[in-house]
Amino acid sequence: MIEIDRITKTYGDIRAVDSVSMTVETGTITVIVGTSGSGKTTLLRMINRLEEPTSGEVRINGDSTLSVKPHILRRRIGYAIQGHGLFPHHTVGRNIGAVPQLLGWTRDKIAARVDELLALFSMDPAQFRDRYPAELSGGQQQRVGVARALASRPDLLLMDEPFGALDPIIRTRAQEDLRRIQQRLGSTIMLVTHDMEEAIRLGDRVAVMDGGKLVQHGTPAEVIAAPATDFVADMVGDVERPLRLLSLIPAAELVEEGSAEGEALSSDASLRDALSACLWTGRAAVPVSKDGVPMGRVTLDAIRARAGQHA
Ligand code: ADP
Ligand code: MG
Repeated sequence: MIEIDRITKTYGDIRAVDSVSMTVETGTITVIVGTSGSGKTTLLRMINRLEEPTSGEVRINGDSTLSVKPHILRRRIGYAIQGHGLFPHHTVGRNIGAVPQLLGWTRDKIAARVDELLALFSMDPAQFRDRYPAELSGGQQQRVGVARALASRPDLLLMDEPFGALDPIIRTRAQEDLRRIQQRLGSTIMLVTHDMEEAIRLGDRVAVMDGGKLVQHGTPAEVIAAPATDFVADMVGDVERPLRLLSLIPAAELVEEGSAEGEALSSDASLRDALSACLWTGRAAVPVSKDGVPMGRVTLDAIRARAGQHA
């Protein structure tokens, strides 16, 4: 558990972060979202002490981050930033193994961890471990950057706009991969973004910052359904509210008996995916299957009715 306790950073007259408190449960993703200059990066960098707080404290599993030397602390906290920050003259394997090596892991243990992470990120270890960053696509570099940040099984992974440089299509893939890998490894992640869409898609909890203050901290559904301030409401955007809600509800929830034409949707796809599938192919319903076994169908009418409940 990460406890952020009234943490504050001032630069002269500027209160970059103004008495922010929040608790992050182990094994969850918290997304910190806000416009440019709202204090997101400063908040993140105070957690691994790249910035020293003016006042306040962060505790990781009960221990104050002030009780360890910053460079030791940073070995326990992964940090992934926009772009990827890979060492260009080191292979993928050496990049991923950098922190484990600092921690004195054996060569065999490091090699096994490198291959495990590459496989998790859908990159064939034999093909990729000896390449250099310049020999990878942007999406692959980004995945190696995240793999490196996760390599030593850190207590916490901090990510600052990690997908900012990716084009929208691979960005969605990167978000899905991160979610899948986080669930698999049980990692605790704090991720910064200016994109509310990304916050809602990725976060177990969403923390909205405005002018250095934490103005709302809740589940994506809470933030969408009851924005705490006008600013949050603006960020959520009334127009897309029903769509955003649909993106949070699994298709399985509205499955009814019956059949429908066309390619089946997986039961863990969202109602938003089901809506897209209907609209894209002009169908009034889509079949839904779980692990390849047909479950029934979701109809456009049912999706409309569900979206309308919250609109
Ligand atoms: P965000 O990541 O949300 O865009 P930042 O945390 O980078 O916001 O910045 C928050 C505020 O603190 C801004 O007003 C920024 O100009 C100011 N700030 C950040 N770092 C410094 C610094 N080293 N010196 C002076 N002001 C800073
Ligand atoms: Mg920033």
